[in-house]
Amino acid sequence: MQLSRIYASLPEQFSAPLTQAPLRNPQIVALNEPLARELGLDPDWLRSPPGLAFLGQGSRPDGTPPVAMAYAGHQFGHFVPSLGDGRAMLVGEVTDRARRLRDIHLKGSGPTPFSRRGDGRAALGPVLREYVVSEAMHALGIPTTRALAALTTGESVMRETMQPGGVIVRIASSHVRVGTFQYFAAQDDTQSVRILADHVIGRLYPELSDAENPYLALLETVTARQADLVARWMLIGFIHGVMNTDNMSIAGETIDFGPCAFLDAYDPAKVFSFIDQNGRYAYGNQPDMALWNLGRLAETLLPLLDSTHERAVEQAKSALMRFDGVFNESYLGGWRRKMGLALEEDGDARLAGRLLTAMHRGEADFTLTFRRLGDAVQSGRTEDVVSLFGPGSKIEDWIGDWKGRLDREERSAEACHADMQATNPRIIPRNHRIEEMIRSAVAGDYTPFHRLSEALSHPFEDGADGFEAPPTVHEQVKNTFCGT
Ligand code: AMP
Ligand code: MG
Ligand code: MG
Repeated sequence: MQLSRIYASLPEQFSAPLTQAPLRNPQIVALNEPLARELGLDPDWLRSPPGLAFLGQGSRPDGTPPVAMAYAGHQFGHFVPSLGDGRAMLVGEVTDRARRLRDIHLKGSGPTPFSRRGDGRAALGPVLREYVVSEAMHALGIPTTRALAALTTGESVMRETMQPGGVIVRIASSHVRVGTFQYFAAQDDTQSVRILADHVIGRLYPELSDAENPYLALLETVTARQADLVARWMLIGFIHGVMNTDNMSIAGETIDFGPCAFLDAYDPAKVFSFIDQNGRYAYGNQPDMALWNLGRLAETLLPLLDSTHERAVEQAKSALMRFDGVFNESYLGGWRRKMGLALEEDGDARLAGRLLTAMHRGEADFTLTFRRLGDAVQSGRTEDVVSLFGPGSKIEDWIGDWKGRLDREERSAEACHADMQATNPRIIPRNHRIEEMIRSAVAGDYTPFHRLSEALSHPFEDGADGFEAPPTVHEQVKNTFCGT
Protein backbone atom coordinates (compact mmCIF):
# COMPACT_ATOMS: atom_id res chain seq x y z
CA MET A 1 0.00 0.00 0.00
CA GLN A 2 1.22 3.46 -0.94
CA LEU A 3 -0.27 5.77 1.71
CA SER A 4 0.55 9.48 1.38
CA ARG A 5 0.06 12.43 3.74
CA ILE A 6 -0.41 15.08 1.08
CA TYR A 7 -3.26 17.03 2.67
CA ALA A 8 -1.85 16.51 6.16
CA SER A 9 1.40 18.13 4.97
CA LEU A 10 -0.31 21.41 4.03
CA PRO A 11 0.25 24.25 6.55
CA GLU A 12 -1.05 23.55 10.05
CA GLN A 13 -4.22 25.68 9.73
CA PHE A 14 -5.60 23.16 7.20
CA SER A 15 -6.07 20.25 9.61
CA ALA A 16 -5.60 18.97 13.13
CA PRO A 17 -3.57 15.81 13.86
CA LEU A 18 -5.44 13.16 15.85
CA THR A 19 -4.44 10.65 18.44
CA GLN A 20 -7.17 8.10 18.86
CA ALA A 21 -8.29 6.13 21.83
CA PRO A 22 -8.73 2.62 20.39
CA LEU A 23 -12.27 1.54 19.68
CA ARG A 24 -13.33 -1.19 22.06
CA ASN A 25 -14.08 -3.84 19.49
CA PRO A 26 -14.17 -2.85 15.80
CA GLN A 27 -15.71 -5.54 13.58
CA ILE A 28 -16.14 -5.45 9.82
CA VAL A 29 -19.76 -5.65 8.72
CA ALA A 30 -19.04 -5.12 5.04
CA LEU A 31 -15.81 -4.92 3.09
CA ASN A 32 -15.93 -3.80 -0.53
CA GLU A 33 -13.34 -6.19 -1.93
CA PRO A 34 -13.45 -5.05 -5.58
CA LEU A 35 -12.91 -1.45 -4.44
CA ALA A 36 -10.12 -2.54 -2.06
CA ARG A 37 -8.32 -4.19 -4.97
CA GLU A 38 -8.88 -1.12 -7.17
CA LEU A 39 -7.14 0.90 -4.44
CA GLY A 40 -4.26 -1.55 -4.21
CA LEU A 41 -5.33 -2.71 -0.73
CA ASP A 42 -5.19 -6.42 0.10
CA PRO A 43 -8.58 -7.57 1.49
CA ASP A 44 -6.85 -10.21 3.65
CA TRP A 45 -4.64 -7.54 5.22
CA LEU A 46 -7.67 -5.31 5.82
CA ARG A 47 -9.28 -8.17 7.78
CA SER A 48 -6.11 -8.74 9.89
CA PRO A 49 -5.57 -6.90 13.24
CA PRO A 50 -3.46 -4.08 11.71
CA GLY A 51 -6.00 -3.78 8.89
CA LEU A 52 -8.84 -3.53 11.41
CA ALA A 53 -6.97 -0.79 13.30
CA PHE A 54 -6.48 0.99 9.97
CA LEU A 55 -10.18 0.77 9.01
CA GLY A 56 -11.62 1.33 12.48
CA GLN A 57 -9.24 3.90 13.95
CA GLY A 58 -7.19 5.26 11.10
CA SER A 59 -3.96 3.69 12.41
CA ARG A 60 -1.41 4.27 9.71
CA PRO A 61 1.28 1.59 9.30
CA ASP A 62 3.99 4.30 9.53
CA GLY A 63 2.65 5.50 12.89
CA THR A 64 2.03 9.10 11.77
CA PRO A 65 -1.33 10.56 12.83
CA PRO A 66 -4.45 10.90 10.69
CA VAL A 67 -5.97 14.39 10.62
CA ALA A 68 -9.33 16.13 10.98
CA MET A 69 -9.86 18.61 8.12
CA ALA A 70 -10.84 22.23 8.82
CA TYR A 71 -13.82 23.73 7.00
CA ALA A 72 -16.66 26.20 7.36
CA GLY A 73 -20.05 26.14 5.69
CA HIS A 74 -23.39 27.69 4.97
CA GLN A 75 -25.90 25.46 6.72
CA PHE A 76 -29.41 26.11 5.37
CA GLY A 77 -28.24 29.55 4.32
CA HIS A 78 -26.55 30.50 7.61
CA PHE A 79 -22.80 30.83 7.68
CA VAL A 80 -20.89 28.85 10.32
CA PRO A 81 -17.22 29.93 10.26
CA SER A 82 -15.83 26.76 11.84
CA LEU A 83 -17.29 23.29 11.31
CA GLY A 84 -14.55 20.83 10.35
CA ASP A 85 -14.41 17.05 10.71
CA GLY A 86 -16.16 16.66 14.05
CA ARG A 87 -16.44 12.91 13.82
CA ALA A 88 -14.33 12.07 10.83
CA MET A 89 -10.69 11.82 9.88
CA LEU A 90 -8.56 11.77 6.79
CA VAL A 91 -6.26 8.77 7.11
CA GLY A 92 -4.30 9.63 3.98
CA GLU A 93 -4.26 9.24 0.23
CA VAL A 94 -3.64 6.00 -1.66
CA THR A 95 -2.60 5.73 -5.28
CA ASP A 96 -5.10 3.48 -7.01
CA ARG A 97 -4.53 1.06 -9.90
CA ALA A 98 -5.24 3.87 -12.39
CA ARG A 99 -2.52 5.98 -10.68
CA ARG A 100 -5.12 8.38 -9.23
CA LEU A 101 -4.90 9.63 -5.66
CA ARG A 102 -7.92 8.69 -3.52
CA ASP A 103 -8.64 9.84 0.03
CA ILE A 104 -9.26 7.30 2.75
CA HIS A 105 -11.58 8.85 5.28
CA LEU A 106 -13.34 7.48 8.37
CA LYS A 107 -16.61 8.77 9.76
CA GLY A 108 -17.76 7.84 13.25
CA SER A 109 -14.29 7.12 14.58
CA GLY A 110 -14.28 9.47 17.59
CA PRO A 111 -14.02 13.07 18.74
CA THR A 112 -11.72 15.64 17.16
CA PRO A 113 -10.80 19.26 17.96
CA PHE A 114 -13.81 20.17 15.73
CA SER A 115 -16.39 18.10 17.64
CA ARG A 116 -17.97 21.03 19.53
CA ARG A 117 -20.87 19.50 21.48
CA GLY A 118 -21.02 16.33 19.34
CA ASP A 119 -19.83 12.94 20.55
CA GLY A 120 -17.67 12.24 17.49
CA ARG A 121 -19.54 9.01 16.83
CA ALA A 122 -21.91 7.65 14.21
CA ALA A 123 -24.76 5.20 14.64
CA LEU A 124 -24.72 2.00 12.62
CA GLY A 125 -27.94 2.84 10.74
CA PRO A 126 -26.64 5.95 8.91
CA VAL A 127 -23.34 4.15 8.26
CA LEU A 128 -25.17 1.37 6.42
CA ARG A 129 -27.37 3.90 4.61
CA GLU A 130 -24.26 5.65 3.29
CA TYR A 131 -22.66 2.33 2.33
CA VAL A 132 -25.67 1.15 0.33
CA VAL A 133 -26.65 4.47 -1.25
CA SER A 134 -23.15 5.62 -2.23
CA GLU A 135 -22.36 2.26 -3.83
CA ALA A 136 -25.74 2.31 -5.58
CA MET A 137 -25.00 5.79 -6.94
CA HIS A 138 -21.73 4.46 -8.34
CA ALA A 139 -23.51 1.53 -10.00
CA LEU A 140 -26.02 4.03 -11.45
CA GLY A 141 -23.12 5.85 -13.08
CA ILE A 142 -23.21 8.97 -10.91
CA PRO A 143 -20.01 10.56 -9.58
CA THR A 144 -19.88 9.82 -5.87
CA THR A 145 -17.72 9.02 -2.90
CA ARG A 146 -17.41 5.27 -2.46
CA ALA A 147 -17.78 2.96 0.52
CA LEU A 148 -14.79 0.75 1.28
CA ALA A 149 -16.05 -0.70 4.55
CA ALA A 150 -18.65 -0.49 7.29
CA LEU A 151 -17.77 -1.48 10.82
CA THR A 152 -19.45 -1.81 14.17
CA THR A 153 -17.50 -0.28 17.02
CA GLY A 154 -18.66 -2.44 19.94
CA GLU A 155 -19.79 0.77 21.62
CA SER A 156 -23.25 2.28 21.95
CA VAL A 157 -24.12 5.83 20.97
CA MET A 158 -26.94 7.86 22.46
CA ARG A 159 -29.36 9.25 19.88
CA GLU A 160 -33.15 9.29 20.42
CA THR A 161 -32.45 5.82 21.77
CA MET A 162 -29.23 3.89 22.40
CA GLN A 163 -27.87 2.67 19.07
CA PRO A 164 -24.96 0.46 18.08
CA GLY A 165 -22.00 2.59 16.97
CA GLY A 166 -20.58 2.34 13.47
CA VAL A 167 -17.76 3.59 11.26
CA ILE A 168 -17.91 4.12 7.50
CA VAL A 169 -14.68 4.06 5.53
CA ARG A 170 -15.25 6.44 2.67
CA ILE A 171 -13.18 6.93 -0.47
CA ALA A 172 -13.18 10.22 -2.40
CA SER A 173 -11.14 11.90 -5.12
CA SER A 174 -10.75 14.65 -2.51
CA HIS A 175 -12.60 15.80 0.58
CA VAL A 176 -12.05 19.49 -0.16
CA ARG A 177 -15.44 21.22 -0.13
CA VAL A 178 -16.78 24.66 -0.93
CA GLY A 179 -16.71 25.09 2.85
CA THR A 180 -12.94 24.51 2.95
CA PHE A 181 -12.45 27.60 0.79
CA GLN A 182 -14.93 29.51 2.94
CA TYR A 183 -13.03 28.64 6.11
CA PHE A 184 -9.98 30.61 4.99
CA ALA A 185 -11.82 33.33 3.08
CA ALA A 186 -13.88 34.16 6.18
CA GLN A 187 -10.61 34.85 8.01
CA ASP A 188 -9.39 37.05 5.11
CA ASP A 189 -6.56 34.54 4.76
CA THR A 190 -6.05 34.91 1.01
CA GLN A 191 -2.71 33.16 1.20
CA SER A 192 -4.37 29.96 2.48
CA VAL A 193 -7.13 30.22 -0.15
CA ARG A 194 -4.37 30.32 -2.75
CA ILE A 195 -2.57 27.33 -1.25
CA LEU A 196 -5.85 25.42 -1.21
CA ALA A 197 -6.68 26.33 -4.81
CA ASP A 198 -3.19 25.29 -5.92
CA HIS A 199 -3.55 22.02 -4.02
CA VAL A 200 -6.90 21.31 -5.71
CA ILE A 201 -5.62 22.17 -9.18
CA GLY A 202 -2.52 20.05 -8.72
CA ARG A 203 -4.45 17.07 -7.48
CA LEU A 204 -7.76 17.13 -9.36
CA TYR A 205 -7.37 19.39 -12.37
CA PRO A 206 -3.67 19.57 -13.32
CA GLU A 207 -4.55 20.59 -16.88
CA LEU A 208 -5.85 23.92 -15.51
CA SER A 209 -2.43 25.07 -14.39
CA ASP A 210 -1.69 25.97 -18.03
CA ALA A 211 -4.79 28.17 -18.31
CA GLU A 212 -4.41 31.91 -18.66
CA ASN A 213 -6.09 32.35 -15.27
CA PRO A 214 -5.99 28.97 -13.47
CA TYR A 215 -8.25 30.16 -10.61
CA LEU A 216 -10.93 31.31 -13.02
CA ALA A 217 -10.57 28.01 -14.87
CA LEU A 218 -11.00 26.24 -11.52
CA LEU A 219 -14.26 28.06 -10.83
CA GLU A 220 -15.49 27.26 -14.35
CA THR A 221 -14.58 23.61 -14.00
CA VAL A 222 -16.16 23.14 -10.57
CA THR A 223 -19.27 24.93 -11.84
CA ALA A 224 -19.52 22.57 -14.81
CA ARG A 225 -18.95 19.48 -12.66
CA GLN A 226 -21.67 20.48 -10.21
CA ALA A 227 -24.12 21.38 -12.97
CA ASP A 228 -23.65 17.97 -14.54
CA LEU A 229 -23.81 16.19 -11.19
CA VAL A 230 -27.09 17.79 -10.14
CA ALA A 231 -28.61 17.07 -13.58
CA ARG A 232 -27.74 13.41 -13.05
CA TRP A 233 -29.33 13.44 -9.60
CA MET A 234 -32.52 14.85 -11.08
CA LEU A 235 -32.63 12.16 -13.77
CA ILE A 236 -32.78 9.33 -11.22
CA GLY A 237 -35.01 11.13 -8.69
CA PHE A 238 -32.29 11.64 -6.09
CA ILE A 239 -32.81 14.19 -3.32
CA HIS A 240 -29.58 14.97 -1.50
CA GLY A 241 -31.40 16.61 1.38
CA VAL A 242 -28.59 18.65 2.92
CA MET A 243 -26.81 20.59 0.18
CA ASN A 244 -24.97 22.86 2.59
CA THR A 245 -21.71 24.29 1.26
CA ASP A 246 -19.76 21.97 3.56
CA ASN A 247 -21.39 19.06 1.75
CA MET A 248 -20.47 20.18 -1.76
CA SER A 249 -17.33 18.53 -3.09
CA ILE A 250 -14.82 20.43 -5.22
CA ALA A 251 -14.25 17.14 -7.07
CA GLY A 252 -17.88 17.09 -8.26
CA GLU A 253 -18.73 13.89 -6.39
CA THR A 254 -21.93 13.26 -4.43
CA ILE A 255 -20.92 13.46 -0.77
CA ASP A 256 -22.67 13.10 2.58
CA PHE A 257 -25.66 10.79 2.50
CA GLY A 258 -27.26 11.85 5.80
CA PRO A 259 -30.94 12.52 5.02
CA CYS A 260 -30.86 11.67 1.29
CA ALA A 261 -33.80 9.91 -0.34
CA PHE A 262 -35.23 8.93 -3.71
CA LEU A 263 -38.53 9.95 -5.27
CA ASP A 264 -41.16 7.27 -5.36
CA ALA A 265 -44.13 9.14 -6.89
CA TYR A 266 -42.93 12.13 -8.90
CA ASP A 267 -43.33 15.46 -7.12
CA PRO A 268 -40.94 18.35 -7.81
CA ALA A 269 -41.60 19.87 -4.36
CA LYS A 270 -40.75 16.64 -2.55
CA VAL A 271 -38.70 16.96 0.65
CA PHE A 272 -37.88 14.09 2.98
CA SER A 273 -35.43 15.61 5.45
CA PHE A 274 -37.06 16.35 8.76
CA ILE A 275 -34.81 19.35 9.35
CA ASP A 276 -35.57 20.92 5.95
CA GLN A 277 -38.85 22.45 7.06
CA ASN A 278 -38.83 25.19 4.41
CA GLY A 279 -38.06 22.88 1.52
CA ARG A 280 -34.79 24.65 0.71
CA TYR A 281 -33.36 21.40 -0.64
CA ALA A 282 -36.53 20.03 -2.26
CA TYR A 283 -36.03 17.85 -5.35
CA GLY A 284 -36.83 20.65 -7.81
CA ASN A 285 -34.73 23.27 -5.97
CA GLN A 286 -31.48 21.37 -6.26
CA PRO A 287 -30.12 23.12 -9.39
CA ASP A 288 -30.76 26.56 -7.85
CA MET A 289 -29.16 25.54 -4.59
CA ALA A 290 -26.08 24.16 -6.34
CA LEU A 291 -25.67 27.46 -8.16
CA TRP A 292 -26.15 29.37 -4.90
CA ASN A 293 -23.35 27.32 -3.33
CA LEU A 294 -21.11 28.00 -6.31
CA GLY A 295 -21.73 31.69 -5.74
CA ARG A 296 -20.25 31.24 -2.26
CA LEU A 297 -17.23 29.49 -3.79
CA ALA A 298 -16.82 32.30 -6.30
CA GLU A 299 -16.74 34.86 -3.46
CA THR A 300 -13.82 33.09 -1.83
CA LEU A 301 -11.84 33.15 -5.08
CA LEU A 302 -12.36 36.85 -5.92
CA PRO A 303 -8.98 38.02 -4.52
CA LEU A 304 -7.22 35.42 -6.68
CA LEU A 305 -9.06 36.26 -9.90
CA ASP A 306 -8.01 39.85 -10.45
CA SER A 307 -6.38 42.67 -8.48
CA THR A 308 -9.35 44.89 -9.37
CA HIS A 309 -12.43 43.84 -7.42
CA GLU A 310 -14.90 44.90 -10.14
CA ARG A 311 -13.05 42.91 -12.80
CA ALA A 312 -12.87 39.88 -10.49
CA VAL A 313 -16.62 40.06 -9.94
CA GLU A 314 -17.26 40.21 -13.70
CA GLN A 315 -15.07 37.17 -14.28
CA ALA A 316 -16.73 35.21 -11.49
CA LYS A 317 -20.18 36.06 -12.85
CA SER A 318 -19.25 34.89 -16.32
CA ALA A 319 -17.89 31.62 -14.88
CA LEU A 320 -21.13 31.01 -12.97
CA MET A 321 -23.15 31.76 -16.10
CA ARG A 322 -21.84 28.48 -17.47
CA PHE A 323 -23.94 26.57 -15.01
CA ASP A 324 -27.18 26.82 -16.97
CA GLY A 325 -25.65 25.73 -20.26
CA VAL A 326 -23.99 22.64 -18.81
CA PHE A 327 -27.00 21.79 -16.67
CA ASN A 328 -29.46 22.11 -19.54
CA GLU A 329 -27.38 20.01 -21.86
CA SER A 330 -26.99 17.16 -19.36
CA TYR A 331 -30.58 17.48 -18.27
CA LEU A 332 -32.27 17.57 -21.67
CA GLY A 333 -29.87 14.96 -23.05
CA GLY A 334 -30.78 12.78 -20.10
CA TRP A 335 -34.54 13.09 -20.60
CA ARG A 336 -34.11 12.29 -24.28
CA ARG A 337 -32.26 9.09 -23.42
CA LYS A 338 -34.82 8.23 -20.76
CA MET A 339 -37.60 8.60 -23.35
CA GLY A 340 -35.70 6.52 -25.89
CA LEU A 341 -34.83 9.36 -28.24
CA ALA A 342 -31.48 9.37 -30.02
CA LEU A 343 -32.28 12.16 -32.49
CA GLU A 344 -32.75 15.73 -31.31
CA GLU A 345 -35.94 17.63 -32.07
CA ASP A 346 -37.02 21.04 -30.82
CA GLY A 347 -40.16 19.66 -29.18
CA ASP A 348 -38.29 17.15 -26.99
CA ALA A 349 -38.02 19.37 -23.91
CA ARG A 350 -41.74 20.02 -24.07
CA LEU A 351 -42.45 16.32 -24.48
CA ALA A 352 -40.39 15.56 -21.36
CA GLY A 353 -42.08 18.39 -19.47
CA ARG A 354 -45.53 17.10 -20.36
CA LEU A 355 -44.61 13.61 -19.16
CA LEU A 356 -43.45 15.04 -15.83
CA THR A 357 -46.68 17.01 -15.50
CA ALA A 358 -48.68 13.85 -16.17
CA MET A 359 -46.57 11.94 -13.62
CA HIS A 360 -47.12 14.67 -11.05
CA ARG A 361 -50.89 14.77 -11.63
CA GLY A 362 -51.19 11.00 -11.73
CA GLU A 363 -48.76 10.47 -8.82
CA ALA A 364 -46.90 7.99 -10.97
CA ASP A 365 -43.81 6.24 -9.68
CA PHE A 366 -40.75 7.95 -11.17
CA THR A 367 -38.49 4.93 -11.63
CA LEU A 368 -41.16 2.50 -12.81
CA THR A 369 -42.62 4.92 -15.34
CA PHE A 370 -39.40 5.11 -17.31
CA ARG A 371 -38.56 1.45 -16.92
CA ARG A 372 -41.97 0.44 -18.20
CA LEU A 373 -41.81 2.90 -21.10
CA GLY A 374 -38.72 0.95 -22.12
CA ASP A 375 -40.58 -2.34 -21.77
CA ALA A 376 -43.39 -0.89 -23.88
CA VAL A 377 -41.00 -0.14 -26.73
CA GLN A 378 -40.22 -3.83 -26.86
CA SER A 379 -43.68 -5.30 -26.28
CA GLY A 380 -45.74 -2.62 -28.00
CA ARG A 381 -48.13 -2.71 -25.01
CA THR A 382 -48.55 0.32 -22.77
CA GLU A 383 -51.10 -0.94 -20.19
CA ASP A 384 -48.39 -1.39 -17.56
CA VAL A 385 -47.35 2.23 -18.00
CA VAL A 386 -50.90 3.56 -17.88
CA SER A 387 -51.68 1.55 -14.73
CA LEU A 388 -49.03 3.55 -12.83
CA PHE A 389 -51.02 6.77 -13.32
CA GLY A 390 -53.94 7.93 -11.19
CA PRO A 391 -56.94 9.78 -12.66
CA GLY A 392 -56.58 13.13 -14.40
CA SER A 393 -53.09 12.57 -15.77
CA LYS A 394 -54.03 12.33 -19.47
CA ILE A 395 -51.12 9.92 -19.88
CA GLU A 396 -52.80 8.22 -22.85
CA ASP A 397 -52.60 11.47 -24.83
CA TRP A 398 -48.94 11.77 -23.97
CA ILE A 399 -48.22 8.17 -24.95
CA GLY A 400 -49.83 8.82 -28.35
CA ASP A 401 -47.54 11.78 -28.97
CA TRP A 402 -44.50 9.91 -27.70
CA LYS A 403 -45.18 7.03 -30.08
CA GLY A 404 -45.44 9.52 -32.92
CA ARG A 405 -42.08 10.96 -31.90
CA LEU A 406 -40.50 7.48 -31.66
CA ASP A 407 -41.70 6.77 -35.21
CA ARG A 408 -39.38 9.51 -36.42
CA GLU A 409 -36.34 7.79 -34.83
CA GLU A 410 -34.05 6.08 -37.30
CA ARG A 411 -33.28 2.93 -35.35
CA SER A 412 -34.84 -0.39 -34.46
CA ALA A 413 -37.14 -0.91 -31.49
CA GLU A 414 -34.55 -3.38 -30.12
CA ALA A 415 -31.79 -0.75 -30.14
CA CYS A 416 -34.11 1.81 -28.55
CA HIS A 417 -35.24 -0.66 -25.88
CA ALA A 418 -31.65 -1.65 -25.05
CA ASP A 419 -30.67 2.01 -24.70
CA MET A 420 -33.63 2.80 -22.46
CA GLN A 421 -33.00 -0.16 -20.15
CA ALA A 422 -29.36 0.92 -19.85
CA THR A 423 -30.34 4.42 -18.71
CA ASN A 424 -33.57 3.77 -16.76
CA PRO A 425 -32.75 1.59 -13.76
CA ARG A 426 -35.08 -1.16 -12.64
CA ILE A 427 -34.10 -0.54 -9.05
CA ILE A 428 -32.95 2.35 -6.92
CA PRO A 429 -32.32 2.32 -3.14
CA ARG A 430 -35.96 2.87 -2.21
CA ASN A 431 -36.39 4.66 1.10
CA HIS A 432 -38.56 1.96 2.65
CA ARG A 433 -36.06 -0.73 1.71
CA ILE A 434 -33.25 1.28 3.29
CA GLU A 435 -35.25 1.72 6.50
CA GLU A 436 -36.13 -1.97 6.55
CA MET A 437 -32.48 -2.92 6.00
CA ILE A 438 -31.39 -0.62 8.86
CA ARG A 439 -34.02 -1.98 11.26
CA SER A 440 -32.88 -5.54 10.57
CA ALA A 441 -29.18 -4.74 10.89
CA VAL A 442 -29.63 -2.93 14.19
CA ALA A 443 -31.48 -6.04 15.42
CA GLY A 444 -28.50 -8.15 14.32
CA ASP A 445 -29.72 -9.49 10.96
CA TYR A 446 -27.57 -8.32 8.05
CA THR A 447 -29.32 -10.44 5.41
CA PRO A 448 -31.40 -7.51 3.99
CA PHE A 449 -28.25 -5.33 3.90
CA HIS A 450 -26.37 -7.90 1.84
CA ARG A 451 -29.33 -8.67 -0.44
CA LEU A 452 -30.00 -5.00 -1.14
CA SER A 453 -26.31 -4.21 -1.72
CA GLU A 454 -25.95 -7.11 -4.10
CA ALA A 455 -29.06 -6.21 -6.13
CA LEU A 456 -28.07 -2.55 -6.35
CA SER A 457 -24.68 -3.44 -7.79
CA HIS A 458 -26.47 -4.13 -11.12
CA PRO A 459 -29.48 -1.80 -11.07
CA PHE A 460 -30.20 -1.92 -14.81
CA GLU A 461 -30.64 -5.70 -15.01
CA ASP A 462 -33.98 -7.42 -14.87
CA GLY A 463 -34.50 -9.56 -11.78
CA ALA A 464 -37.02 -11.31 -9.60
CA ASP A 465 -35.99 -9.86 -6.24
CA GLY A 466 -39.05 -7.59 -5.93
CA PHE A 467 -36.87 -4.55 -5.13
CA GLU A 468 -38.49 -2.52 -7.92
CA ALA A 469 -41.81 -2.31 -6.03
CA PRO A 470 -42.80 1.10 -4.67
CA PRO A 471 -43.82 1.24 -1.00
CA THR A 472 -47.33 0.35 0.05
CA VAL A 473 -49.23 3.08 1.91
CA HIS A 474 -47.99 1.59 5.19
CA GLU A 475 -44.39 1.31 4.04
CA GLN A 476 -44.08 4.90 2.84
CA VAL A 477 -41.23 6.83 4.47
CA LYS A 478 -42.39 10.35 5.34
CA ASN A 479 -39.21 11.79 6.80
CA THR A 480 -35.51 11.07 6.86
CA PHE A 481 -33.29 12.27 9.67
CA CYS A 482 -29.81 13.69 9.41
CA GLY A 483 -27.35 10.84 9.65
CA THR A 484 -25.80 11.22 13.07
P1 AMP B 1 -23.11 16.83 8.45
O1 AMP B 1 -24.51 17.16 8.80
O2 AMP B 1 -22.83 15.36 8.55
O3 AMP B 1 -22.68 17.37 7.15
O4 AMP B 1 -22.21 17.49 9.58
C1 AMP B 1 -22.15 18.88 9.79
C2 AMP B 1 -21.10 19.19 10.83
O5 AMP B 1 -21.47 18.63 12.10
C3 AMP B 1 -19.72 18.66 10.54
O6 AMP B 1 -18.79 19.60 11.01
C4 AMP B 1 -19.67 17.38 11.36
O7 AMP B 1 -18.35 17.00 11.66
C5 AMP B 1 -20.43 17.78 12.60
N1 AMP B 1 -21.04 16.62 13.29
C6 AMP B 1 -22.12 15.92 12.90
N2 AMP B 1 -22.38 14.92 13.77
C7 AMP B 1 -21.43 14.99 14.74
C8 AMP B 1 -21.15 14.22 15.92
N3 AMP B 1 -21.92 13.18 16.29
N4 AMP B 1 -20.10 14.59 16.66
C9 AMP B 1 -19.32 15.63 16.32
N5 AMP B 1 -19.53 16.39 15.22
C10 AMP B 1 -20.57 16.07 14.43
MG1 MG C 1 -21.10 16.86 6.03
MG1 MG D 1 -23.71 13.98 7.44
